[in-house]
Amino acid sequence: MATDTLASPATLSHTKTRVLKNFIDGEWVDSSTGQTFEDHNPADTRDVVGIFQRSNRADVNAAVEAAKRAFAKWRLVPAPRRAEIVFRAAEILIERKEECARDMTREMGKVLAETRGDVQEAIDAAYYNAGEGRRLFGPTVPSEMPNKFAMAVRQPIGVCGMITPWNFPMAIASWKLLPAVVCGNTCVIKPAQDTPLSTFNLVRALVDAGLPKGVINIVTGFGAEVGTPLAEHPDVRAISLTGSSVVGRIVGGIAAQSFKHCSLELGGKNPMIVLDDANLDLAIEGGLWGAFGTTGQRCTATSRIIVQKGVYREFVERYVDRAKKLKVGNGLDESVQMGPAINAKQLETDLSYVEIGRNEGAKLVCGGNRLDKGEYQYGWFMEPTVFTDVDPKMRIAQEEIFGPVVSIISCDGLEDAIEIANNIEYGLSSALYTKDVNKAFSAIRDLYAGITYINAPTIGAEVHLPFGGTKATGNGHREGGIGAIDFYTEWKSVYVDYSDKLQKAQIDRVD
Ligand code: NAD
Repeated sequence: MATDTLASPATLSHTKTRVLKNFIDGEWVDSSTGQTFEDHNPADTRDVVGIFQRSNRADVNAAVEAAKRAFAKWRLVPAPRRAEIVFRAAEILIERKEECARDMTREMGKVLAETRGDVQEAIDAAYYNAGEGRRLFGPTVPSEMPNKFAMAVRQPIGVCGMITPWNFPMAIASWKLLPAVVCGNTCVIKPAQDTPLSTFNLVRALVDAGLPKGVINIVTGFGAEVGTPLAEHPDVRAISLTGSSVVGRIVGGIAAQSFKHCSLELGGKNPMIVLDDANLDLAIEGGLWGAFGTTGQRCTATSRIIVQKGVYREFVERYVDRAKKLKVGNGLDESVQMGPAINAKQLETDLSYVEIGRNEGAKLVCGGNRLDKGEYQYGWFMEPTVFTDVDPKMRIAQEEIFGPVVSIISCDGLEDAIEIANNIEYGLSSALYTKDVNKAFSAIRDLYAGITYINAPTIGAEVHLPFGGTKATGNGHREGGIGAIDFYTEWKSVYVDYSDKLQKAQIDRVD
């Protein structure tokens, strides 16, 4: 087994087991616990993708200390220079795109076309944020007093902690790390324990592009052992979590104790509405991609399809027919359309919701079974699953499953559909299929979610637009685009009085 190094050019492989240490202050270091954990391929659990450090609070402390030291210098590097490193990392990732995608399919399970997309998203985020290095605009405004100059500048916050999930292992890390470093912050990232390798591949590109030591540090391990100490650390001034709403409540609560900046991107239960006038071919295609892409393991996955009565029967028949034909398997096979669940626990959750749906009286019309014979025997596979006749109040229509299980609900028309769509704990993504522009704009106004697609499914965000949601999906921040720049900077308002006398704001007025 080879011990990897971040400082050398990438030698990614798709068969070997790599041993990766924590990356702290530009050095590879063992965890102080002396313990490690294995990262398994969910399509074939005999395949150990990597061995990673099972870290603890002491490792977090060391990483934060390194990030704090690095911040003293990094914050003074001009933003356009910081951004050039990020731009170069994009170019490096382009060269390594295929290798990174193969590594990701092996550790996460989603099909190659999608992992290439995940790496592409990091490339897009790098180009976007590199551009921001020459902007970081702030307002210059007239003062209310004569001979006084007023402006606001963006300043970095300091050490930022990032906690990421497993479903977009490189893209989500890039949404956090890239704007943070362009803005002049330094970072400690704890990747999800199921997919740490892709974070190493991203940081490797940044290091090879010239990122100084200590600016990004990686500490691997489990939520309570690494994530919690990171959120609690008094020198971490901003914490950004993407994960479940349950963990969001924990991390948000911790962050509030020391008034840290805190960005929470959490769960979803995303509705796609299909009206009678919709292009059904398009809606069926979109509904399949939205529900079964990434094996339904997207926060934006289409998990409820709300279909108007006039086309309900036809939609269901044709949708189910297509869902049955989806090819499930190892994502490294280019002909496969849906990979495995990420791990045993997630598969168990998915299958438990099949039981819940049955017991609630929904009609199981497609799938519902684990696949564990032949080529599937070593992986966490299940069939694409469709329930119809779903009552919007059922648990399968209310709770985030995070698997390939979709609920089809009938509705009377747009108003009814929007009520069903909004009557949910979450508010991440939403979609409407119609040819009626009036209905489209009404839905854009009335769907209470962070994202609305018209004539496209609930997935497919682009990096330069705000990403995030309402209600239990988050705490009001947005990643992507300028929202991330807002999160990773603090405003400083600057007043320069060149009148040579004391001017009292709000008091010295010439009326
Ligand atoms: P998770 O909440 O179980 O874990 C997310 C991260 O938090 C992991 O790194 C985990 O180790 C860490 N963590 C767990 N317990 C912790 C604790 N007590 N303190 C600190 N950190 C802790 O989520 P997951 O299973 O990795 O990902 C799936 C979830 O993520 C879904 O709910 C999905 O909707 C959500 N998600 C949201 C978005 C979004 O942008 N809104 C994007 C992707 C995924």
